[in-house]
Amino acid sequence: MPSATQDQLERWQKAVDGTSAYADRVDKGKRLFSSLNTVRNPTFKQVRQVLTEMCSGAQRCAYCEDSVADEVEHIKPKDLYPESVFVWENYLYACGPCNGPKNNQFAVFSSMAEQFTDVTRGRKALVVPPEEGDPVLINPRIENPLDFLYLDLVDTFYFLPRLGLDTKKQKRADYTIDILRLNAKDYLVEARAEAFGSYRARLSEYISDKASGVKGTHLDKRVKAQQRMQHPTVWREMQRQQKLIPALKYLFDLAPEAASW
Ligand SMILES: [Zn+2]
Repeated sequence: MPSATQDQLERWQKAVDGTSAYADRVDKGKRLFSSLNTVRNPTFKQVRQVLTEMCSGAQRCAYCEDSVADEVEHIKPKDLYPESVFVWENYLYACGPCNGPKNNQFAVFSSMAEQFTDVTRGRKALVVPPEEGDPVLINPRIENPLDFLYLDLVDTFYFLPRLGLDTKKQKRADYTIDILRLNAKDYLVEARAEAFGSYRARLSEYISDKASGVKGTHLDKRVKAQQRMQHPTVWREMQRQQKLIPALKYLFDLAPEAASW
């Protein structure tokens, strides 16, 4: 992120933080954000450009990796956390179908170690600060979702909590799967299954090219194409589970270098 863009975001954040009452800060943050987050605003143009570069494939959503990302999403909702409305680390590029239902939903772990509280504010609820605590939603800007989640590549193509997680992490996995509806959208599950097939097919093509003595530059192109595909988490999971699934073990034994693509 260029420093001028970062500085501008910080100035806007200071303007929000300088408002004394919490409810006014929420209101100011939302109004300021919607007036500044436009295609013509040079700061947000830059923000969107960097967020686009962070997307997988052809500008795919950071949550579902499937649809086009075109909305600046606040991981911590601006309705609840005015102190993060212009914080760069709180932004992701997301698609409408992910951003819409997620909306203001949020939960935090309360002081009761392993319990979490839904801090989503109802439409008519009083605008007061949410209970404090660590977020339940996995934050892909600072955490690796695959530390929490496991993708079933054999049968369902559902995301599931990894085995052996502690209770807190398991709850975070379940909550994230639920809020982002990662298994509830049939098209998403099908797209992951299709991506699995495409990744396998491309890896097979690479292996046969390599066996027939195709030049390195052409092979490099194949690697780059593999890295630019949609649903990169499917590929990451294939790398992780290569020894567990015979069909994958066969391919990765022929191209062990693919483990680090
Ligand atoms: Zn999405």
